[in-house]
Amino acid sequence: MSRIVNIGKISIGGGNPVAIQSMTNTDTRDVESTLRQIEALYNAGCELVRVSVPDFDSLNSFSDIVKHSPVPLIADIHYDYRLAIGAIKKGAAKVRINPGNIGQSWKIKEIVSVAKAYRTPIRVGANSGSIKENFKGYDNKAIALAESALEETRILESMGFYDIVISAKSSSVKETIEANRYISSRVDYPLHIGVTEAGVFETAVVKSSIGIGTLLLEGIGDTIRVSIAGDPLIEVKIAKKLLKALDLKEGVEVIACPTCARTEIDVESLAHNVETWLEDINTNLTIAVMGCVVNGIGEGKDADIGIAGTTTGAVIFAKGRIVERVRKADLKEKLMKWVKEYSSKNKRA
Ligand code: SF4
Repeated sequence: MSRIVNIGKISIGGGNPVAIQSMTNTDTRDVESTLRQIEALYNAGCELVRVSVPDFDSLNSFSDIVKHSPVPLIADIHYDYRLAIGAIKKGAAKVRINPGNIGQSWKIKEIVSVAKAYRTPIRVGANSGSIKENFKGYDNKAIALAESALEETRILESMGFYDIVISAKSSSVKETIEANRYISSRVDYPLHIGVTEAGVFETAVVKSSIGIGTLLLEGIGDTIRVSIAGDPLIEVKIAKKLLKALDLKEGVEVIACPTCARTEIDVESLAHNVETWLEDINTNLTIAVMGCVVNGIGEGKDADIGIAGTTTGAVIFAKGRIVERVRKADLKEKLMKWVKEYSSKNKRA
């Protein structure tokens, strides 16, 4: 088990729940837009947000952003040690640096000294695109990636700093998995995992699900980021579904039949609607959306509540037993009634 690291109010490692992380893609100098995006990420279920601090103007804004952020913020710093120190002093809950690109040892020591004083953890690591020169000749790219990340770790350790989170990300799923297995077998720091530059939606979802999912099933990984080109809100939604699918998060799971010639209802749009209607429910509940009563009720009998299409509307069923026949227009209202009833019964049980 990894050791515990506290990132503001969120503790990771040591058996704590896996935390969802994302990153803003607004201009950090624009406080209002950045805070708006952080709020939206938080409302969607994001627990940690990384913000780039590329220059001193951004650092000034970061100070205001931290004050109003509902989630702990991680300052993403490259090259300039003064930005890292400034971000820590202004309230970053963690900083992401790579000592290797900060430069001289005394600069890293300065960061470490302030991080110790403020009890701010540091995330170090490597991406497939930033493997250090001395590991580039390795035949095994995953080991090169892992060793590159571990070397960054050793720099901090040599300065007596151990409040560390490590990441080793590749755009290759296999490399990501192998590199993180390698690291977790050698050190007990919490790992931030994800497949980097995973691509556009479908590709990114597939790659992240395999990469992150495989590692989490092996007990490796303490925070996750599903990297998708575009709106970070989508990353958080997918991350929640991923954790839910692995039973690492509570919430509603909507299952749906693949549809066929028997389908009596628009399964796809109804399933999307049901997800939206129930997205604020944080207790475990499986809802089946099935196209017909012929097979739908039997196939959905393990679901807590289900909907199956009929020629005249739909039926609502619970654990495989029909409890009500409804018109399509009343579906939302009736489903919510049964969900409420199910939830309160389960609370009493
Ligand atoms: S539940 Fe009904 S509509 Fe859906 S795939 Fe099965 S038979 Fe077809």
